[in-house]
Order: sequence, then C-alpha cells, then structure tokens
Amino acid sequence: MYHFFKQINAFFDNFISFWIGEKCYFCGEPGKFICDICILKLPFLEGNTCIKCLTPLQGANLNNNLLCGECLKNPPDFKQVYAPFWYEGRLKDLIQDVKFRQRYYYIPKIFVPIKEKVINFFKTLDLRKSFIVPVPLSKARKILRGYNQSHLIANELSKIVKIPVLYNYLIKVKEIKPMMTLSREERFKNIKGAFSVAKKNSVDTIILVDDIITTTATIREASYVLKKGGCNEIYIFGLCRAKN
Ligand SMILES: [Zn+2]
Ligand SMILES: [Zn+2]
Repeated sequence: MYHFFKQINAFFDNFISFWIGEKCYFCGEPGKFICDICILKLPFLEGNTCIKCLTPLQGANLNNNLLCGECLKNPPDFKQVYAPFWYEGRLKDLIQDVKFRQRYYYIPKIFVPIKEKVINFFKTLDLRKSFIVPVPLSKARKILRGYNQSHLIANELSKIVKIPVLYNYLIKVKEIKPMMTLSREERFKNIKGAFSVAKKNSVDTIILVDDIITTTATIREASYVLKKGGCNEIYIFGLCRAKN
C-alpha cells in the first residue's frame, strides 16, 4: 500500500510540473528543474582523486597519475571510473528521491548539466565495439521498486553517447544483503559471487553503469565477472561517487 501511495504521489508531482511548469528542485525558483544559480552549486567531481577509482587523495603537491592504496595493492579489472558528481549535499536528496521515492523521471533532468562533459569523456571509445551494461538489481528489489535505477541511467547515457545498452547480459545470481547496511569489509564479502554473465561473448569494451560508487566492491566484482566472460576493457560510469 505504501508503495502504491509513493507511486501516486510521484505521478501527481510529474503531472503538476508538466502543466504548471517546472520549478528548481533545489531552490523552488520557477523555470527549470535546476536553475542557473543552483547549477553552479552542484557538487561536480573535482580535486585530487585516484586515477582509476576516484577515491579522494589527501596531501599537498599531488600531481596527476596517482593511484590510491587499494588500487595499488589490489588492481581492479576496470580501467577507470568516470563519475560527474560527488554524492553529497542536496544532490544526495535528489538521488535518494530517484532510488526510494519513485522519482525515476529526475534521471534525464540530472543529465542536462553534465551532458557535454560526459560526451567528451566517452569520445575516445570505438562506438562499434562498445556496449553499456547496467549493474543488475536483485529480483526482489526490482519488484518492490518497480524499476532498476541503473538501468534508467544506462538508457540516458546511451542516448547521449550513442552506445547501445546490453540488457540482461550481466545478471544477478545471488540475493545479497542491502550494501548500505554493511561495513566496508562486509560489502566485499557480501557481493562475492553475486553476478554472472548470461552468455560468454567476446565484447571489446563495456561501460558498466551504477548509480552510486561507494567502496567499489560492486564494480570490482562485476568487472571481474565481465572480464572472465570475455570482455576486453571495462570503464565504469557512476552517476555519483561517495567520498566514503
Ligand atoms: Zn535553484
Ligand atoms: Zn583507486
């Protein structure tokens, strides 16, 4: 029942913004979903980070090309993570609205301020040989929520960078505990063996899509499985990167 009311609420929200016009999500100013002033305050990802996984790196005089301790000790199977935003501030509320309050229609709107940056990042990839693959959700959670937000992010990314989505290629074969409730070490244990590829295939490049990158446990495990499944090169697109 609660789920039903959430959906109705989201429906009216969308209906009203369609007929009355859009209001800024952050300040309420009529006009656009994110007004020109609030765009400037978005937590765009910047600063010194690991060149592979975007973990923030502390310290002075850092030049580029630095890896974090984890990537040095335990190199991941992906080549690089790309994330346009930090998972912080009011953007966090927006992402949680998408995930838990049926506001899946916010996804195309949040791509508006990052579109050019995203296109530039993926420009170097060979489009004929690349595919976008969303991180799968467990069946139970997909039924409860009605959609997989990573799927919707993958669709939007696909429209922008013109790379096709491979649906149901990476699949979830083990039900796991919700990652949010677990410690760092527990997350790595929890996700082990959770994924499989539907059919082994030699794929040149995969862009694996997730909503929030936190410990990298999920993307590390998924990349390991994709590599074993015959993929050559893996990039990660995360809508947000948590600073941990
Ligand atoms: Zn605003
Ligand atoms: Zn790293």
